[in-house]
Amino acid sequence: LTREGFSSIPNVTWDNIGGLDHLREEFYHHVILPLKFPEECKGFEFCLETGFLLFGPPGCGKTLVAQAVANEAGANFIHVEGPELLSKYVGETEKAIRELFSRARMCSPCIVFFDEVDALTTKRGEQGAWVVERPLNQLLVELSGGKKRDGVIVIAATNRPDMMDPAVQRAGRFGRHIYVPLPNSVQRYSILKSLVRDVRIDPSVDLNAIARMESCENRSGADLKALVKQAGYAAFRDTNSGSNKRTIKMVHFEQAFTNLKPFSHEP
Ligand code: ATP
Repeated sequence: LTREGFSSIPNVTWDNIGGLDHLREEFYHHVILPLKFPEECKGFEFCLETGFLLFGPPGCGKTLVAQAVANEAGANFIHVEGPELLSKYVGETEKAIRELFSRARMCSPCIVFFDEVDALTTKRGEQGAWVVERPLNQLLVELSGGKKRDGVIVIAATNRPDMMDPAVQRAGRFGRHIYVPLPNSVQRYSILKSLVRDVRIDPSVDLNAIARMESCENRSGADLKALVKQAGYAAFRDTNSGSNKRTIKMVHFEQAFTNLKPFSHEP
């Protein structure tokens, strides 16, 4: 488990994320407010929500969102990959899950980000499901941990919500399900703006026009990041501009499009 032992407050903020304002609002009301201002929330019907399931195509910002929530909450962040947690030896995975939650409680407030959670929660009865039966039960015990889970919020992510056991999805476990979609053109513009914040971009570049280009349709945030990177590389290699005047221009984006890989997801 390479990254699992790691807990610190991430430095990703909502400024690094484009097009997902509704998620910011959702997490503000269900995590940030109750965690940071519990007194002000008393007497209202809503309270801290401790289990979220983010689902949708890969590369659309699920990891970034979990990191930004931790940053805004001033909470520690533990990143776990479902498949990594499934170890070969019977009993090892349950132990790892118990230890994970115990560590999270020790450094609370803490956000546990559970990527590819479907690996652990394959529907019981499905082919191969016996491998995860016991770890799944352990996860359910931890997720229903009630009071003991004070200050531990689990944000899980999957590209395959249909593969998940319904027991994991009930209220009190992953009570809130949020779809993180592929961006539309307005959201792509907002993502591009966040991606070029620290990049030497020429003022003549029209990001709005890029966002609306046909070649950008069905592209994820991860695809757009690859595009900006390719454009940067094209600009750096461009012998037409002097080395200290190099900036990324529209022509470099055009070149980048021709080098862009197919989709990082099923369109
Ligand atoms: P996966 O399902 O493959 O784990 P994910 O949904 O967790 O993907 P991220 O890892 O958050 O996606 O995104 C990958 C990279 O793509 C980010 O590091 C970021 O550079 C870029 N990216 C994706 N979505 C956005 C977004 N909405 N705003 C800004 N950048 C984004």
